[in-house]
Amino acid sequence: MKIIMLGAPGAGKGTQAKMISDKYGIPHISTGDIFRANIKNGTELGKKAKTYMDQGLLVPDELVVDLVVDRVAQDDCEKGYVLDGFPRTIPQAEALDAALAKLGSKVDYAVNVEVPDENIITRMSGRRACVSCGATYHIVHIPTKVEGICDRCGAKLILRDDDKPETVKKRLAVYHEQTQPLIDYYTKQNVLVEVDGTKDMEEVFAAICNILGE
Ligand code: AMP
Repeated sequence: MKIIMLGAPGAGKGTQAKMISDKYGIPHISTGDIFRANIKNGTELGKKAKTYMDQGLLVPDELVVDLVVDRVAQDDCEKGYVLDGFPRTIPQAEALDAALAKLGSKVDYAVNVEVPDENIITRMSGRRACVSCGATYHIVHIPTKVEGICDRCGAKLILRDDDKPETVKKRLAVYHEQTQPLIDYYTKQNVLVEVDGTKDMEEVFAAICNILGE
């Protein structure tokens, strides 16, 4: 099952992607996580990506397409995967389709997690990320056992630069301009499905499982 998660930044697609990955036993591939890992490790890719990410801009297509195309061709992706944060532009979607066609494969579902912009800004200012392992939480919806400390590894939590309100507004504008056209793109391919992302996490997940099947 090859799944793409669509939705505005902060719509909860990362959380849902992790849950899908666990339930269906397919890898969760998050381009945002890949960039953040590269930033943490001080790689050239990380340095280049950071300048865009900190401003709420998309990293150029040429820095992301090959990375994903190589990843989905790996053995653990044979049964499927859930792509989170990719594609984000029409050229990325076209490059993915072309690469999948070469592998004799195609996207099965593009799941659009719908949340109005008003909800997004409030939600994202409550997000917290671990400086060490990258785990994400929310001060209201997914609190840690000890405030400000990661449940998983004990390191400090921060509000990521790209989750700060000014950056979120910029990211939403970029989303509407560059990523929203993908909704039409996947509608035309008959693979688009929509869920109401304003509901709580478990309800959204139940709606997605209902669509994907057991
Ligand atoms: P995310 O964690 O998916 O919200 O991604 C965080 C940031 O990484 C985005 O705001 C972009 O700057 C960058 N990024 C992640 N995925 C992509 C992509 N497919 N294309 C371009 N930039 C991306």
